[in-house]
Amino acid sequence: MTQPGPLPDHAVGPACEPGVPAALDAAVVRLTAPNASMMTGPGTNSYVVGTDEVVVIDPGPVIDAHLDALRGVIAGRRVTAVAVTHHHRDHAPAARVLADAVGAPVVGHGHDGLVVDVALAEGSELFAGTDVLVAWHTPGHASDHLCFLAPSSGWLFTGDHVMQGSTVVIRPPDGDLLAYLTSLERIRDSHAVQRLAPGHGRVLESPAAVITAIVAHRQARGTVVLDALREHGPGTAAQLRPFAYADVGSDRDVVATATCWAHLLALVGEGTATTSSVRDDPEAVFTATPGS
Ligand SMILES: [Zn+2]
Repeated sequence: MTQPGPLPDHAVGPACEPGVPAALDAAVVRLTAPNASMMTGPGTNSYVVGTDEVVVIDPGPVIDAHLDALRGVIAGRRVTAVAVTHHHRDHAPAARVLADAVGAPVVGHGHDGLVVDVALAEGSELFAGTDVLVAWHTPGHASDHLCFLAPSSGWLFTGDHVMQGSTVVIRPPDGDLLAYLTSLERIRDSHAVQRLAPGHGRVLESPAAVITAIVAHRQARGTVVLDALREHGPGTAAQLRPFAYADVGSDRDVVATATCWAHLLALVGEGTATTSSVRDDPEAVFTATPGS
């Protein structure tokens, strides 16, 4: 079985240095939190969008040094909203702390794992002076995931929908691979998106090329997973993972098994596999559909 190769890199602009604000243009400052890890790359990116009035996107985990640095970036400016792309712990927990400190609402899609003051839906708008951000509901990595588009400049703040240098993790049942691909294709096909500002890593240019490569990578992996299922199934995600992710080391076993599960559920959605159980059962046994 041929494993998918690495993604091409379209990264531009300054590197992500925790604690060092990077002005990406006159109305966008990126500040990377000091939470680098295998899952978060160089750390979670917070973005401050606007000039005299600003929206803060993804303040990250509660880390005093990062909150102090964020306050330094927004000093003298009014924060109109603290927006979260999704509820995961490397993006959202500091939102409440920052929002309370600056007297702004926490805004996001809303999720069992995240209390928001204002629930955003597809097309909701956030205002910071003359700057506008439009929420796009992009489920897949997480069911509550939003991207934020700045229509006047073409920035798309992608949270964990797209990150630099690696594929994102899809963990069922909240994560959904088919929804993820649909959400990606929407960005690829939009002429409004000029560049991607991810939640982890540097700015990515050529959004259509970036996303075409991600979709192709996922499709290649889907083929590998289906081949593994045909050869070694029926089986659970954990049983099939060694064959479907033979190129991924044991240090990433949990992630590989979760993503294998996501692919198996996608095969069920596409009709090339069946499952013994309900969608949220990690022990479900999958079987290749005869003739698929
Ligand atoms: Zn996430």
